[in-house]
Amino acid sequence: MRKPIIAGNWKMNGSRSSIKELLHGLKAGIGEVKSAEVAVCAPSIYLADVSEQLTGTAIGFGGQNLSTAAKGAFTGEISADMLLDFKCEYVIVGHSERRSLYGETDQLVAEKFEVARKAGLKPILCIGETLEERESGITNDVCSRQLNAVIEHSGIAALADGVIAYEPVWAIGTGKTATPEQAQETHAAIRKLLSDKDASVAEKVRIQYGGSMNAANAAELLAMADIDGGLIGGASLVAKDFLTICKAAG
Ligand code: PEP
Repeated sequence: MRKPIIAGNWKMNGSRSSIKELLHGLKAGIGEVKSAEVAVCAPSIYLADVSEQLTGTAIGFGGQNLSTAAKGAFTGEISADMLLDFKCEYVIVGHSERRSLYGETDQLVAEKFEVARKAGLKPILCIGETLEERESGITNDVCSRQLNAVIEHSGIAALADGVIAYEPVWAIGTGKTATPEQAQETHAAIRKLLSDKDASVAEKVRIQYGGSMNAANAAELLAMADIDGGLIGGASLVAKDFLTICKAAG
């Protein structure tokens, strides 16, 4: 049985005071979440605050990106060791916004995944198709390509303890959620791809759905057999909504 995992992706939102308030709300309600693993991924400048407020609680935390380099002349970047220095457990890699706005290629994402994993962070690997790709019928090809880049770089076993977030790009921040059946179909295809290479890894790896998941639609998405959690953007900024999603996961 895979333990569901709900992670919040705050993106570039919040302030010291709003984050304090949000975390206060999450800490007050986390006791009602029975079995799901819960984490928030914060803007790096707020990780010190988040670490101070969440260390020792049932809520994990992490970054939204990392550099492939260990240190040095990489202005604006943040290393795996820096994330670990603030007790981060997770890091998002390959979010579609990083891919589309900052030119992150499958190869770079694969390198980031490996750097994070080797350092002892749990990478949350985002994959997913654009609307044009879905309409062209190549959703599974796109997901396979993005996933295979990581498998070729790190080996299939590397995925066992990681988390994959299937995020159809057309559903991110748009209010257009994939239907539970649409999401399940792609999740099952992702698991099949993994299973063809290693059945035990496929059985173990957790695949989150991401894309306008909210308090109203979470339960039916999370009820699907191959949906093991959610990566939540907008709804993770509201404690009540995020907690409702966490509780829907179990
Ligand atoms: C995301 O950014 O990963 C995401 C799923 O965003 P939203 O929930 O706002 O669609």
